[in-house]
Amino acid sequence: MNHLGSIWPPFTQTGLAPDPIKVLNGHGVWLELEDGRKVIDAISSWWVNLHGHARPEIAEAIYTQAKQLEHVIFAGYTHDPALKLAQVLVDALPDPLSKVFFSDNGSTAIEVAIKMAVQASYNKGQAKVRIVAFEGAYHGDTFGAMATGERSVFSEPFEGMLFAVDRMPYPATWEGDAGYEAKECDALARLEEHLRVHRDEVAMVMIEPFVQGAGGMRMVEASFLQGIDSLCKKYEVLLCFDEVMTGFGRTGEFFACIKAEVCPDIICLSKGITGGFLPLSVTVTTQTVFDAFHSKDPLKALYHGHSYTANPLGCAAALASWQILIQEQSFRNLEGRYHQHIEKLRNHSSVEKIRSCGTILAFDVKSSNGGYFDSLGPILKQRFAHSRALLRPLGNTVYVLPPYTISDDELLLIFEEIHHVFDSLKE
Ligand SMILES: *Cc1c(COP(=O)(O)O)cnc(C)c1O
Repeated sequence: MNHLGSIWPPFTQTGLAPDPIKVLNGHGVWLELEDGRKVIDAISSWWVNLHGHARPEIAEAIYTQAKQLEHVIFAGYTHDPALKLAQVLVDALPDPLSKVFFSDNGSTAIEVAIKMAVQASYNKGQAKVRIVAFEGAYHGDTFGAMATGERSVFSEPFEGMLFAVDRMPYPATWEGDAGYEAKECDALARLEEHLRVHRDEVAMVMIEPFVQGAGGMRMVEASFLQGIDSLCKKYEVLLCFDEVMTGFGRTGEFFACIKAEVCPDIICLSKGITGGFLPLSVTVTTQTVFDAFHSKDPLKALYHGHSYTANPLGCAAALASWQILIQEQSFRNLEGRYHQHIEKLRNHSSVEKIRSCGTILAFDVKSSNGGYFDSLGPILKQRFAHSRALLRPLGNTVYVLPPYTISDDELLLIFEEIHHVFDSLKE
C-alpha cells in the first residue's frame, strides 16, 4: 500500500526510504499502527511528547479554548492564554529571564534569539555580528539556525548562503571518560582566547545545555556550562541556551539552566512546551536585553513575528501540559530507573560510550570486531523499524528518550528490543 500519497516527507530520501507507516492512534506511550502492531514511542515522537499520547487533560484544554478564541493577531492584541503562559514560564525560569517572545517552532525560536542578540548590540551602536556556537551543534533547519548549527551534508547545498559562525570545540563525554577534565579545560581555554580577542564583535554564545540532541546525544558536565557562563560575563557577551529539546524536564530538572545553575541571557524553548500537542515556541530573555529595544524610536523595535505567534490553542495546551508536569514531576524518576538497564548494556561487547542525563539515555554501537562500519547506521534504523519500540538511531548512536509517564514494564520492553536488535546483528 502506498502511503506517501502527495506528501513530501521531512528528512527522507523518498527514493530509498520504505513507505511511511500509518499510525492510527496513540495512548500513553503506545502507538497503534495500521498493520495491527502496537509499538512503544521510545523517542517521544521526535522528543516532543512528555506525558503520553492523547492526554485527555490537554485535549480538553484545547477544545475549551477553541470554543472561545481559536486565534487572533498578536500585534496590538493579546489574550489570557498567552499572558498566563508567559507568567508561568517567567515564574519557573531563573529570575532575570522575564520577557517572553512567542513563535511556533524551535528553529524560529533560534532565529529570534539571533536577532535579539545582534539587534540589541546594533541598537546600542555596537554592531556585534559574530555568533559563537559549538562543534556538533544542531539548532534547527531555517537559515539562521542552520548557519549556527554544525555544517553537514544536510546544509551543504546552502553552504555559500550561510553566515560564518565561530565554531568552538565541544568536550563530549560518557561514563568512564577519564579524559573529560582535560577536554573541558582545553575547550574553555579556546573559548576564552576567542572571546578575549573578539569580545567587541561577538554578539552571543549559543549552546544546547548538557546534551546536543540531533548531533548524536553528546553530553557535557554542568562545569562546562558554568565555565562558559563565567567567560560570557567576563567578556560581556550574551549567552543563549537552546533548550528546545532539554526544556520541560528532559534533563531531570524543569529546565537545563536550573540543573546547571546558570542563568543565560536568552533561552529558547519548544518541543515539549505543549506536551507534544501543538507547535509553539518561546524565546525568553532578560529585562536588560528587552531594554535595548524598548524606546520611543520605532527603528529600535524587534520587527519579527509569525502569523500564528502565540496561538491561543498552543498556549492553552502548554498551560495544561505544565499543570501535569508540576503535579506529576515524573521526569525526576526516570534516571534512577535506567540503572539496571545501563548495567546490562555495560556488559555488552557492542556497546560503548554510555551516557545519560535525566530522561535521556544514549550509547554508541560498534561492530563486534571493534571497528565501526559505515553501514551500521542504516542497518540499525531498519532493524528498529521492525521492533516493538519506535527507536530512530542517530547514525550508530542509539538513544532512549521516552514520555516521562512510561512504566517499568514498558521501559523493560524497550531494552529487550534493543538487545534483540543486537542479537540480530550477529546473525
Ligand atoms: C529540534 C531542535 C531545534 C529545532 O526545532 P524545530 O521545532 O524542529 O524547528 C532546535 N534546537 C534543538 C536543540 C532541537 O532539538
